[in-house]
Amino acid sequence: MKKHNFSAGPCILPTEVMQKASEAIQELDGIGLSLIEISHRSKEFVTIMEKARSLALELMGLQGKGYQALFLQGGASMQFLMTAFNLLDKKAGYVNTGTWSQKAIKEARLFGDVVEVASSQEDNFRYIPKGFDIPSDMDYLHLTSNNTIYGTQFKEFPKTDVPLVCDMSSDIFSRQLDFSQFDLIYAGAQKNMGPAGTTLVVVKEDVLGKVSRKIPSMMDYSMHISKDSMFNTPLVFAVYVSMLTMQWLKDLGGVAVIEEINERKANLIYSEIELNPVFSGIAAKEDRSIMNATFNITDDELKDIFDDMCKEAGISGINGHRSVGGYRASMYNALPMESVGVLVDIMSELEKKG
Ligand SMILES: *Cc1c(COP(=O)(O)O)cnc(C)c1O
Repeated sequence: MKKHNFSAGPCILPTEVMQKASEAIQELDGIGLSLIEISHRSKEFVTIMEKARSLALELMGLQGKGYQALFLQGGASMQFLMTAFNLLDKKAGYVNTGTWSQKAIKEARLFGDVVEVASSQEDNFRYIPKGFDIPSDMDYLHLTSNNTIYGTQFKEFPKTDVPLVCDMSSDIFSRQLDFSQFDLIYAGAQKNMGPAGTTLVVVKEDVLGKVSRKIPSMMDYSMHISKDSMFNTPLVFAVYVSMLTMQWLKDLGGVAVIEEINERKANLIYSEIELNPVFSGIAAKEDRSIMNATFNITDDELKDIFDDMCKEAGISGINGHRSVGGYRASMYNALPMESVGVLVDIMSELEKKG
């Protein structure tokens, strides 16, 4: 029996995407060859890459607005340094909302002055800082839209003339945003889009070319743009699966439609967490993520019972991150409402046992 997959990442992908992807491993669209044994320069793969890049822009409403979508390698972790390599000339601002932002800050410091403009560290990142000052002399401001580990999410983004760079690894394509407010969006997209290693960058071209340093080709966004995201051999399988996932999302009605579904899933679990005295939410209410719900069990003696019940029901991947503890239910785009229903039923049953 297939489990209810609440894993934080890599994570659940749509069933039909996995079906098509496994068929393509055997044979791609009747061409007599496997997807993973053809040249990335073949017309078949070039078409896949073009489609993936254009779907990414289309789903974000960024077509014809001066943006380019790139499929790169090295995950979000490579983007921590690549963004700074390409954009940080003198000074950049970072909002510290947890482990992933801290890692981005550490890499950026190798390239210039980094100002931590706001932080929620003093409260173990339970909330999203708001209303902070953004000095205007910065090359960019870096944000992490969804903080996978703590279950917090920016609902509104700072209004500023400073270019915005955003790590959207764990909420890419999960909700409707004005994506044109960002100058660069990146994602280690094994969380809502593709297999492990998938790396998407969406960059506004006019933000590039402003740093004085020399940039090695593989690190240079402009180089990747000039080679249509095929400077070297791309992650063929990851790009294909991403293309299928984006097509699945488009057929469903796009980001606005999935947002509504994601909201309903999140409301279901958060109302249970709020009403059920056995559980308490971890993240501040107004900043709760629709992707990752973090919560504690209030009575330690019920923990083993809850864990057994989850196991019995085929619920997988709800242990909290080691730095936060408790539980974390990740509800990415492909997770069916039914899975959230199963978890919530167990939670309410536990209350009766408590
Ligand atoms: C998972 C995650 C990362 C790390 O992604 P990698 O692709 O493993 O480097 C970075 N940022 C956020 C917000 C994440 O959730």
